[in-house]
Amino acid sequence: MARYTGPVCRMCRVEQKKLMLKGNRCKSDKCPMNKKRAAPGKDPKARPGKRSDYGVQLREKQKLKRIYGMMESQFRLFFDRAQRMPGITGENLFVLLERRLDNIVYRLRFASSRSQARQLVLHGHVLVNGEKITIPSYLVKAENEISIAEGSKNMTTIKDALREYGKAGVMPWLSLDPDAMKGKFLAAPRRSDITDLGDIKEQMIIELYSK
Ligand code: SF4
Repeated sequence: MARYTGPVCRMCRVEQKKLMLKGNRCKSDKCPMNKKRAAPGKDPKARPGKRSDYGVQLREKQKLKRIYGMMESQFRLFFDRAQRMPGITGENLFVLLERRLDNIVYRLRFASSRSQARQLVLHGHVLVNGEKITIPSYLVKAENEISIAEGSKNMTTIKDALREYGKAGVMPWLSLDPDAMKGKFLAAPRRSDITDLGDIKEQMIIELYSK
């Protein structure tokens, strides 16, 4: 599956929002967003122009897509699937995104960013119910156990991430045993539980794709 390989921090500058794509760097003084720089290609002294409805909808979709590290085609597939599920499409979309294996590996603090989590999955360091799964978009189900493969438990990146972020605990729909390097996806979250993505307006994304 294709993935974005350009400069990562540029995406935050385009969205004028910290998307937290680079782990530790995002929380440090090195984050370029701390310097209040203008979006790429924009004159820093220019007054922000009014965006069209389409422009606003597009930016909401781009933000969410970039946070989860997805390309357009795969994001669209997730949206289509969310639309076919019973219930509210926006909520369904968040549930599907949260069920991605790379996201859960990140949320369980085994990695400092979703892109690092994606690498751990791709390289076979992650097990679901004891079985190696190398597909970052694999959808984890309730009560599935996610663990680090025995031979990977000494990896510095995993130990560092757990040490750095494990203290903060995990989201309420997960449980973590940091010593055993394993956790559980307890149940699908509700939209209101996902509080760390800022003010993403999923309704805008629905309107964009409904055109
Ligand atoms: Fe975005 Fe993180 Fe780069 Fe800051 S350091 S611009 S939050 S990816």
